[in-house]
Amino acid sequence: TYTIAEPCVDVMDKSCVEECPVDCIYEGGRMLYIHPDECVDCGACEPVCPVEAIFYEDDTPDEWTEYNTANVDFFVEL
Ligand code: SF4
Repeated sequence: TYTIAEPCVDVMDKSCVEECPVDCIYEGGRMLYIHPDECVDCGACEPVCPVEAIFYEDDTPDEWTEYNTANVDFFVEL
């Protein structure tokens, strides 16, 4: 799955939402989250993010890997 990291916090540009072919990007309190089971790993959202907040989960920079977990937890808590 793809994940959204810190640059999205308080930005929520939503360009990615329009690109996602399966509508699996959801709005949280301060950032957007990608549903890990619905994401088809197409990568369409990654280049359109104006703040470069989106990463394939294995490529999330070390300082932001907690966002991989936070992204999954967001949907567990719903
Ligand atoms: Fe949606 Fe594709 Fe991005 Fe996954 S990788 S969130 S399916 S646009």
